[in-house]
Amino acid sequence: MSRRLAQGFRPDRPGVPVVVAIGANLGDRAATIDAAVEDLRALPLTDEVRVAPPISSVAVKLDGPDAAAPAYLNTVALLRTRLAPWRLLDALHAVEARHGRVRAERWGDRTLDLDIVAYGAVRSDAPDLTLPHPRAAERTFVLEPWLALDADAQLPGSGRVQELLARLQADA
Ligand code: AMP
Repeated sequence: MSRRLAQGFRPDRPGVPVVVAIGANLGDRAATIDAAVEDLRALPLTDEVRVAPPISSVAVKLDGPDAAAPAYLNTVALLRTRLAPWRLLDALHAVEARHGRVRAERWGDRTLDLDIVAYGAVRSDAPDLTLPHPRAAERTFVLEPWLALDADAQLPGSGRVQELLARLQADA
């Protein structure tokens, strides 16, 4: 997909189903997630926002799980949008900024983290927007809430979310 096309609005197209991973490990995590979801509901050209109940998970740092770091509250939102992928990413960054996200450290603690797990079946290997998200298949805290919202969920290129999750849980 050309970046020019990807950056523009496409009001002629039907909405694309999108999976957004939401995480918070600083401050009032539940309140931040609730506020972020309201922000997602308010995005232009976006509707059908559904959110799974949040789950708690150990922070994952560059070296792996870090039980000493504040635990995360994670969930997933499914939505339909006619915002093109990079527009949506910009909008999610604005929501992160509104809730105090400071990009001090990659993989660092954060008041709010929003990732695009999948944008329809779109594939992108651009570093600023890799689709599907390259680590989604390894993250229980993404797959579990996603499955709670959609028992038939499929991660493009990786398969059924139910099977990916079962594999992770068997390996744990
Ligand atoms: P993080 O600090 O983990 O939130 O990473 C943010 C960076 O990852 C941003 O610079 C994004 O442009 C980039 N990025 C690449 N792919 C994605 C994706 N699928 N969803 C969100 N951010 C992404």
